[in-house]
Amino acid sequence: MPNFSADAPVLNIVIGSHVWVADKDLAWIDGEVFKIDGQNAHVRTTKGNTITANVSDIHPKDTEAPPDGVDDMTRLSYLHEPGVLDNLAVRYAKNIIYTYTGNILIAINPFQRLPNLVDVQTMEKYKGANLGDLDPHVFAIADVSYRQMMNEGKSNSILVSGESGAGKTETTKLLMRYLAFLGGRSGTGGRTVEQQVLESNPVLEAFGNAKTVRNNNSSRFGKFVELQFDKSGKISGAAIRTYLLERSRVCQTSSPERNYHCFYFLCSAPSEDIKKYKLGDPSSFHYLNQSSCIRVDGINDAEEYLATRNAMDMVGITEEEQEAIFRVVAAVLHLGNISFAKGTEADSSVIKDAKARFHLNTAGELLMCDCEKLENALIKREINTPEGVITTTVGPNSATVSRDGFAKQIYSRLFDWLVNRINASIGQDPNSDKLIGVLDIYGFESFKTNSFEQLCINFTNEKLQQHFNQNVFKMEQEEYTREQINWSYIEFVDNQDVLDLIEKKPGGIIALLDEACMFPKSTHETLSQKLYEKFKNHKRFAKPKLSRTAFTIQHYAGDVIYQSDHFLDKNKDYVVAEHQELLNASRCSFVSVLFPPAPEENTKSSKSSSIATRFKVFLGKTMQLHELMETLSSTEPHYIRCVKPNSVLKPAIFENTNVLQQLRCSGVLEAIRISCAGYPTRKLFHDFLHRFRILAPEILKEKNDEKTTCQKVLDKIGLEGYQWFNKLVSRISTA
Ligand code: ADP
Ligand code: MG
Repeated sequence: MPNFSADAPVLNIVIGSHVWVADKDLAWIDGEVFKIDGQNAHVRTTKGNTITANVSDIHPKDTEAPPDGVDDMTRLSYLHEPGVLDNLAVRYAKNIIYTYTGNILIAINPFQRLPNLVDVQTMEKYKGANLGDLDPHVFAIADVSYRQMMNEGKSNSILVSGESGAGKTETTKLLMRYLAFLGGRSGTGGRTVEQQVLESNPVLEAFGNAKTVRNNNSSRFGKFVELQFDKSGKISGAAIRTYLLERSRVCQTSSPERNYHCFYFLCSAPSEDIKKYKLGDPSSFHYLNQSSCIRVDGINDAEEYLATRNAMDMVGITEEEQEAIFRVVAAVLHLGNISFAKGTEADSSVIKDAKARFHLNTAGELLMCDCEKLENALIKREINTPEGVITTTVGPNSATVSRDGFAKQIYSRLFDWLVNRINASIGQDPNSDKLIGVLDIYGFESFKTNSFEQLCINFTNEKLQQHFNQNVFKMEQEEYTREQINWSYIEFVDNQDVLDLIEKKPGGIIALLDEACMFPKSTHETLSQKLYEKFKNHKRFAKPKLSRTAFTIQHYAGDVIYQSDHFLDKNKDYVVAEHQELLNASRCSFVSVLFPPAPEENTKSSKSSSIATRFKVFLGKTMQLHELMETLSSTEPHYIRCVKPNSVLKPAIFENTNVLQQLRCSGVLEAIRISCAGYPTRKLFHDFLHRFRILAPEILKEKNDEKTTCQKVLDKIGLEGYQWFNKLVSRISTA
């Protein structure tokens, strides 16, 4: 009898069964059972070898699966890992890149433009269609969000996630395009809101994207675009919010990656600009030549420079502002070339040589600030003592750290300025009471070495994961209620304990880090000792053997080992008062606006307390994150999980193990598990009958309606534990 339950009921595996068995290369391979002894099944695989596995570790294979797979994983005859993977692989091979898992859309990067997938005719087709009536598509998700917003007057959000290169940004652009198609204004003069939002992409990408190992055009920041709608459903305003720009990249790159695109674009600018900014080949700048990768296939830096200028015009950044923006970008490059040598006194430094001085002077000129003060800001430090302010010098290493901190600050403020400027020119609608937000944020990261940035990113993902779990769970529950299905409460893995480990106040990792930053004597060793001591019994925390400074966090998506080496510096990434004063005094109003006087440092007396109020990066990020979570929880969420099918970024290659890992990290497998605990396999009456008619051909001849026929077939074959959905019949996995 064909099996109609969620997973392999062990008993059903007999000689001749088609099954999936674990394989170290392919994750799962299919084959046929040719012998069973006790608990062991011997399987001859389609690769031609034989594998012996415990019967509880093998899964039945659906030999009658449709040639194009199924649109929705919950329609799989067997809802298990190999079934899910095979369904995606079969579809991908036919260029069907979208598949649902219930309400979640899985999008696999095609790495090629697919014909007719995203044209206007396709948009027309999806307009107003019910989810599930047409092939799975990002447009369908956008359409549902829009209609939910219009019908229920509630804000919606679409969360697009996935690892770098999985296609998040491209997917986001498609969503925006479709929403603009639905809610755009037509025919009026001037630029529409949606055009401006789309046109802001090249500007943000020039300053916030870079070539990485995983993606030649990787966004190094998270982005939440909020489209505001008026009463009639037309887009009336928009705001872009950005998160977690990777600042360390400004000063640190390594092969085969690059720094942010804009640096290379500017170095390929027309000669009059090169002369004006005293630039040269990118490889002459320290911030760019740490990596041997200077040029990228498929990116023409000279053309992109002009395109960026053009895009800036489009979003209303004036010629004068553009001039200042690129002056600042050039200044950052020159700053990076200021090298230091030991001074005559202990713990002091001097500008290394004439070349370094040239870059110092150029940086000063471009930033329009006093060059001598710039020099002092880098090699001297003012310290507040009860007796008053005293000035000390710092050694070459500290001067270099100070220089890099300065460069990162300038760059990240420039980026924030761009975002604000774009928002100002797009314009917000104060009367709008509903919006659709689209979140494009990078997924969970686990590299060979993981630092502060990865902790920030993974923490963000833990937060989003919790939101996801709660919602998937809630949606399931609501569906059962709506369909009047009986079900009992199921447990799902909650990650609250990881969140507590990181963010609990007091006593979490962030709190301990902030605390360590306040004591001048702290080092990453003392911080690590503190963490080891405090969390020695925490089940999500571990100290790697042999290490005295690394720590492991067991994230929902797997273990990550963090190297604490630069945690303190990175968290202390505040604006040094001297740097702030220097740039605030710039003769260029653009530069001085980037560094407004900090409120608590207006008066001399409060200066001594500044150490306690110094901006903590992590704290700042946590606050941003907190706001994002608040926004998200006030909206109706929709999820798109992007998957990168291979690590060579080429079409038509589907790497099983790689994809499985992403499905696990993105919570798709967990969502499936949640649905397995309920009524996982659902079949349309029609499909059910098609499949099971051989068991009761006489019943089909009776010509009853489909539901009655299904009931009769079920009665005849004595199947229990099924439930009726509106158009579906479903059975519990553990019945
Ligand atoms: P992410 O934002 O997740 O890092 P991107 O959206 O930048 O990834 O996609 C990486 C690359 O993959 C793109 O530059 C593009 O070449 C390709 N790509 C992604 N999605 C699509 C798609 N839907 N159609 C065609 N190519 C795509
Ligand atoms: Mg991206």
